[in-house]
Amino acid sequence: TAQPGGGAPVLAAIEATNPGLPRASGLADSHFANDGQITKRPIRALTLSALAPRPGELLWDIGGGSGSISAEWCLAAPGARAVTFEPRAERLENIAENARRFGLSHRMTPVLGRAPDVLAGQPLPDVVFIGGGGRRDLLEHLRASLPTGTRLVANGVTLETETLLMQTHAEIGGHLMKVEIAEAAPLGTLRGWARARPVIQWSVTL
Ligand code: SAH
Repeated sequence: TAQPGGGAPVLAAIEATNPGLPRASGLADSHFANDGQITKRPIRALTLSALAPRPGELLWDIGGGSGSISAEWCLAAPGARAVTFEPRAERLENIAENARRFGLSHRMTPVLGRAPDVLAGQPLPDVVFIGGGGRRDLLEHLRASLPTGTRLVANGVTLETETLLMQTHAEIGGHLMKVEIAEAAPLGTLRGWARARPVIQWSVTL
């Protein structure tokens, strides 16, 4: 029989008997109501690490999609709150549904609309995540309106966003990262690496 601390058999037994949510960020995509537009698990884990949630902090999640980033932000730190901006009404439904699923409806606020216009009048955040809508006008608006010390993380997959993030990094610094992930998948009767699109992630403290 497995001894406590004895490695894999013990872990397997814990997983089989413990249906609770894992404590680490990067939950399985299947936990979230989504239409396929969701930051995938490994990228989400890296993104939460860059966002670095602390107790009581407020996040603006711009381009909320399913709200998975907002939900994991709120789960990661006591009292953390998120406002999730998303222009597509059917996705806003998913955001509200995910807030309910995780018992976060009192800490997550879905807001329908397009940034930067929709940001007007919102309480200022400690941290901003841009998962969609990362265009020059949005970055300029944020740089002009957010107080010094606000943290900003932007993910991009298009050439246009990549160019913008590279240029802005050259102008004001911060940390620029390129994430290239491949996962094993069937290839005929064997297996091959299925590559995800590279994600560019820029993090800065304004
Ligand atoms: N991080 C999300 C996925 C984001 S997909 C998740 O994990 O579910 C990008 C989203 O940005 C899309 O839902 C798109 O509708 C939204 N979007 C595009 N332009 C936007 C803008 N200007 N303001 C706010 N959201 C925008």
